[in-house]
Amino acid sequence: MAKNINNIIFGIIGVTYRCNAKCVMCNIWKHPTKKDVEFPSRILEKLPNIPVFNVTGGEPFLKEDLQDIIDILKNKSERIVISTNGFLTDKILRFADKNKNIGIRVSIEGFPAANDKLRGLKNGFDKGLRTLIELKNMGFKDIGFGITVSGENTKDLLPLYNLATYLDLEFATAIVHNTYYFKKFDNVISNKEAVANEFKKLLYKLLKSKSVKNWFRAYFNYGIINFIAGKPRLLPCEMGSSSFYLDPYGIIRPCNGRDEIMGNLNVQSFEEIWHSKKAAEVRELVKNCDKNCWMIGSVGELMKKKIFVPINWIIRNKFLKKRDTERIIGSLIHNETRAGAESKVASIEN
Ligand code: SF4
Repeated sequence: MAKNINNIIFGIIGVTYRCNAKCVMCNIWKHPTKKDVEFPSRILEKLPNIPVFNVTGGEPFLKEDLQDIIDILKNKSERIVISTNGFLTDKILRFADKNKNIGIRVSIEGFPAANDKLRGLKNGFDKGLRTLIELKNMGFKDIGFGITVSGENTKDLLPLYNLATYLDLEFATAIVHNTYYFKKFDNVISNKEAVANEFKKLLYKLLKSKSVKNWFRAYFNYGIINFIAGKPRLLPCEMGSSSFYLDPYGIIRPCNGRDEIMGNLNVQSFEEIWHSKKAAEVRELVKNCDKNCWMIGSVGELMKKKIFVPINWIIRNKFLKKRDTERIIGSLIHNETRAGAESKVASIEN
């Protein structure tokens, strides 16, 4: 196994931009990669050892050599999580049966009406949930689902959290935003106050639960409320330094929020890319990035690295009385929505 370099903690591997969904908040499906320009799996041998890889798309289960990709990454990492829309149930279950140690996260944007409309997938909710339940029946532990909240599905946030708790599945949240990766720049949160209020209710539930993991999730959701408010990130972004994004063309970028190129893994070694002048320039841009996005990809591992920051927040908020917590979080939302009200429906540039 190659030696770790520069304490990289997280790698996002986009294996294809082909997709079987037609999401409202993402246009990747309108700009699919052609199979012959997607990177060959062998270039992944060049990657260093990294604690966590997230394999994403497009829809990763459309990638013909996904098994080869996972086989290579398994030799470099203790944890691999695949993000999927869960639609190809049989294929996913067959794959999972041969790869018992991977994690799988299914994107579910709400209950059937909201999910199928937002994802453009008839029976998408049905198939996604079926995939999760079958994985659970197979004894998979590292499985869960995630919702990207917008004005369209806000009311499903808490019921989906309750469903995840009931089924004993991991539950991740995200907020709709714009990036070159989605090839979409006009996503908006149509009612910031209502959306922030639903996150506030979720935050409170998480913070008051008995699960330590949920307390950290409360902090993550606090960061989402902060993002809705248009405020700087709670933790400075380290993408391009402690993490990176490899796109389906074999190009290394700091993240899937910015389109700067650090290097090309098809023709360069990872070390050459990582220590290049170009990479150093990109890191300077990240330091001053004003997108302030707060996605689990760029935050989850960072929260572990800077664990005392969330711990400090948890101690200060967990043991407050309900009315004090509501007052503190409420004032944050009040400030943010006052700004938001001025522009009525503010677009989030990210
Ligand atoms: S804040 Fe900027 S650099 Fe960091 S993940 Fe978002 S877009 Fe990328």
